Amino acid sequence: MSLTFTVGGCRGSMCVSGHQYRRYGGNTTCYYVEVEPGHYLVIDAGTGLRTLQNEARERPGPQRFTVLLTHYHWDHIQGLPTFGGIYDPGVRVDLYGPPCNEKTPTEALGDVMKPPWWPVPVDKASGVRVHALEESMKVGAVRVHQMGLSHPQRSVAFRLDADRSIVIATDHEAGEQSEIDDALAEFASGADVLFHDAQYTPDEHLADKKGWGHSDWEQAARAARAAGVGRLILTSHDPDRTDEEVDAIRYEARRLFTPVDAAFEGMTLPL
Ligand SMILES: [Zn+2]
Repeated sequence: MSLTFTVGGCRGSMCVSGHQYRRYGGNTTCYYVEVEPGHYLVIDAGTGLRTLQNEARERPGPQRFTVLLTHYHWDHIQGLPTFGGIYDPGVRVDLYGPPCNEKTPTEALGDVMKPPWWPVPVDKASGVRVHALEESMKVGAVRVHQMGLSHPQRSVAFRLDADRSIVIATDHEAGEQSEIDDALAEFASGADVLFHDAQYTPDEHLADKKGWGHSDWEQAARAARAAGVGRLILTSHDPDRTDEEVDAIRYEARRLFTPVDAAFEGMTLPL
């Protein structure tokens, strides 16, 4: 079966709505691929998870979701409480998260998904099982590897290898720890596609956003060049960034690396 990788949401920090975000979309981080019939590999559970839920609902037959979290910041988990699959005992949802500040994934999610913030505690959602993220996993036909990035409370990047290879680095501040930048170049080496955090412009980054955990488009382009990837896709768009401004960033980044595109909701790529 040929695999199709889909962007369900690519907005950073918080979801947004409005005509100015129509083309790139307002939902937060979620990427997914159907790895075998009815089984979806999902990277991050931002509000873009709803896109997958709506798509999967149309599909007959049993369903299974393997969800890998890059970290636990709100924009990466906010689609989870309203994801119908976790309440359906007939749907298997395996949720994998990295350790965070000595907390297990169950504790990290359980701290926020419980009353009074949400009526159902995560460990009472009937369809979900929470696991510690593994260094390397095989999910259907896809081999998955992960590595730690430079981000408050730490985030991870994922590399998905099947017929093609896609690396996803949604939340990473390049330039903070050179050894991590070098490791990411190695990790993403030769990948067909690199999704890289490009939340800021270089001017915004330098003005007052250093240490906030995100890269600018220039750093994303340099990371793509260092890794020798086939294509760079800018992602984690700033919540204030309009469609026209994302267009402008993409155009600018092409001075440093080609081909460059910007992630948008509904974007699909072969994997
Ligand atoms: Zn984050």
